Amino acid sequence: MKEKITVTKPCLPPLEEFVPYLKQIWDNKWLTNNGPFHKQLEKELADYLGVKYISLFSNETLALISALQALDIQGEVITTPFSFVATTHSIWWNKVTPVFADIEPEYLNLDPNKIEAAITEKTRAIMPVHVFGNPCKVDEIQKIAEKYGLKVIYDAAHAFGVEKNGNSILNYGDLSILSFHATKVYSTIEGGAIISHTPEMKHHIDNLKNFGFRGETIVEEPGINAKLNEVQAAYGLLQLKYVDHFIQRRKKITDLYRNLLKDIPGIRFLNDMLAVTHTYSYFPILIDEEKYQLSRDELYEKLKEYNIYSRRYFYPLVSEFSPYRDFPSSKKENLPVAGDTARKVLCLPIFVELEECDIFFICETIKQL
Ligand SMILES: *Cc1c(COP(=O)(O)O)cnc(C)c1O
Repeated sequence: MKEKITVTKPCLPPLEEFVPYLKQIWDNKWLTNNGPFHKQLEKELADYLGVKYISLFSNETLALISALQALDIQGEVITTPFSFVATTHSIWWNKVTPVFADIEPEYLNLDPNKIEAAITEKTRAIMPVHVFGNPCKVDEIQKIAEKYGLKVIYDAAHAFGVEKNGNSILNYGDLSILSFHATKVYSTIEGGAIISHTPEMKHHIDNLKNFGFRGETIVEEPGINAKLNEVQAAYGLLQLKYVDHFIQRRKKITDLYRNLLKDIPGIRFLNDMLAVTHTYSYFPILIDEEKYQLSRDELYEKLKEYNIYSRRYFYPLVSEFSPYRDFPSSKKENLPVAGDTARKVLCLPIFVELEECDIFFICETIKQL
């Protein structure tokens, strides 16, 4: 039996390259609270991503919660049920009501028409997700936001490095939020960030993640502790040196998958969007049971027998989890495309050190089944 192939596996930098950073931390004894590596990482990431202002966080979930605080969002926020559960949790933690709208079938992001239809008097913001790194229809969403005076907060967990017409996708909306969790394209082990567009907003966010302090003796609002420490910032600096190589590998893997899977009846994958630079965070396929002759769940179970561990992202829908399932917007009739997608989608293994022979093995297994 082959070794277990997991859906993802972190790629750590060479340990000996990390030791000098640790030495520096041990020497200056600055462990957290906006230390030198933290400052350097904010600068290098802003340059790398092509964004103006970035505030590092200890994880994305706290960053999402803080983003809603920073914009003082109340009432209702329209979001997608086809995401990781943290998107909706962040709304709920602010005692704001999440309202689910359906997705579009092509790229599985919030459907602008459905957003507009879900707007009520209480709506204050839209929280879309660039699912699997494919940009949302950002121009249409912006138009809706302007028409109704809403804020737009993008969960950009999957969109590190993604560009549209040469411009970072993180420059759209009021705020964009990144995750640097170990399973993402770029990682600080745990971590996240908020991208903002003015120095005032960055300053506000930086205060919010540090208990609301504005100087030694002034606290102007109830903040939280969501700071990234120096050891993780150092890890992030080192990861940044390798991230282009990581993305190139992911592109190669994606190309090979597409090539090997293109003629299998009932298997669909998402193609690159026009004028978009992708970073290949996931490799989702959609299984049409009638044409493929196995259901998604049957394929998922069978692959396990061959020691291939794919993941059903995103299944169940967030709207199906018990805290949210009784919401009026969670009704199945309101979310037909999301419901259908959640039953069909399967994310195949993709990570930097995934070997070509493993990809051949995975695709051959899918073909034979
Ligand atoms: C990973 C992820 C998150 C949560 O990120 P953490 O850094 O683990 O808190 C939120 N939203 C989406 C879409 C994600 O994939």
